[in-house]
Amino acid sequence: MNRSGTQLSSASQRWLKELRSAGYRLTAPRQAVVEIIANSEFLLDPQTLYDRARRRYPRLGLVTVYRTLEKLEEQGLVQRVHHPDGCQAFIAAVNGHQHLLICQRCNRVQYFSGDGERMGALMESVSQASGYQIQEHWLQLFGLCADCQASAEQ
Ligand SMILES: [Zn+2]
Ligand SMILES: [Zn+2]
Repeated sequence: MNRSGTQLSSASQRWLKELRSAGYRLTAPRQAVVEIIANSEFLLDPQTLYDRARRRYPRLGLVTVYRTLEKLEEQGLVQRVHHPDGCQAFIAAVNGHQHLLICQRCNRVQYFSGDGERMGALMESVSQASGYQIQEHWLQLFGLCADCQASAEQ
């Protein structure tokens, strides 16, 4: 329980603990930034994160948001997502190798595994065509989530 008596999610609690043990001083505004991104299923860019955290801490600076994101990235707690329009956005990192599915309308992020035979065959054919020895891959797929498809049909 935090001071306001609300229950923190286990993700935020784990993150706060990790940051503290890495020697990061968690001021209340930094903590607000951490909690928002730890609990988000949606991509967050620094500006959106700033706007949300500022509802709790009106005097929060954008620099604090950037520094907190930097620290979270350093600790491997968030991962950067690349957007076709070039903007930077972040989402809570998951353990292990996963592929991302990103909704282009609402920014919801889901993960899928599925490195099976087909992925192996794809890598093999790319490798043969290019002459590269492929060591890893990172996959992001963009589209419309089920909720956004349903609302588009109405
Ligand atoms: Zn959506
Ligand atoms: Zn993969």
